Amino acid sequence: MINHLGLKAYGKINLGLDVLRRREDGYHEVRMIMQTVGIFDRVDLIRKTKPGIQVETNLYYLPTNENNLVYKAAKLLMDEFDIKEGLTIRLKKFIPVAAGMAGGSSDAATVLFGVNKMFHLGLSTKELMERGVKIGADVPYCIMRGTALSEGIGEILTPLPPVPQCQVLIAKPAISVSTKYVYENLRANDLRPEQHPDIDAIIGSIRKGDIYGIADNLGNVLETVTEKNYPVIRQIKDTMLEHGAIGSLMSGSGPTVFGLFTNPKAAQEAYETLRYNDADGLAKQVYLTNFYNQKENRHES
Ligand code: ATP
Repeated sequence: MINHLGLKAYGKINLGLDVLRRREDGYHEVRMIMQTVGIFDRVDLIRKTKPGIQVETNLYYLPTNENNLVYKAAKLLMDEFDIKEGLTIRLKKFIPVAAGMAGGSSDAATVLFGVNKMFHLGLSTKELMERGVKIGADVPYCIMRGTALSEGIGEILTPLPPVPQCQVLIAKPAISVSTKYVYENLRANDLRPEQHPDIDAIIGSIRKGDIYGIADNLGNVLETVTEKNYPVIRQIKDTMLEHGAIGSLMSGSGPTVFGLFTNPKAAQEAYETLRYNDADGLAKQVYLTNFYNQKENRHES
């Protein structure tokens, strides 16, 4: 019997993000290049005899009730399979919150994986992904991980070959940006052709293993909204590029910005500049990491 599972929930960045149109029902049709990075939350699952789901987290401002995505994920499977025992979920957050890195979705994906394993439910990855989309559009991708093209509202996934490894500098400025606000202000159906990133060019470069081609074509249509309202995003990108990043972009609906580096020394210097010269208030959370290219579905630490 499995009584405890120690798991890792990895965050993602977008190497490309395009919004094709706003649908009648208010959802947006997207084309995104998703890439897992080496920043992760720790998720511990502890089986208990007393029924019920209990969530504990190191961040006081996160919900611990059914509004936490880890709770939703556990409940979804435990209700479906009528599991009578209880579960404690200990969540230690490192992925910046509400930052465009799919932290909550990844935590939920990891809980689906863990509950399936702990209680021997026997669901395949595909079956977990089908359940995951009920929690959030990015959850199926977070179950799959690696490099992928994400279409539809985010649930149609095509795996892509792993991207060549490089240093990834991630900086989250000390501002909060609401995803809803960004999408509402995008006016997706009125965008000019040149405002759309060239997602096919990124896919072509990924298939060729050409990191410079990827860097040259990085693009996120949501920057048209956020950069205008939050100049700090442009400033962080400029700082990364001045320090030798081969490309820099905002991830998701922001405000997290990442830079790609092929020179480890330059990456380290950029990290230190953003990390320690914080007097100008440019970035609050800064991480130097890599792409996480492990394709197989291993969420365990
Ligand atoms: P995305 O890239 O999918 O837009 P995000 O990085 O913008 O994700 P999250 O960090 O996943 O956003 O969470 C956004 C909101 O969801 C938070 O403000 C928080 O209140 C709520 N939330 C619920 N569960 C979690 C969780 N496990 N981790 C983080 N946030 C959570």
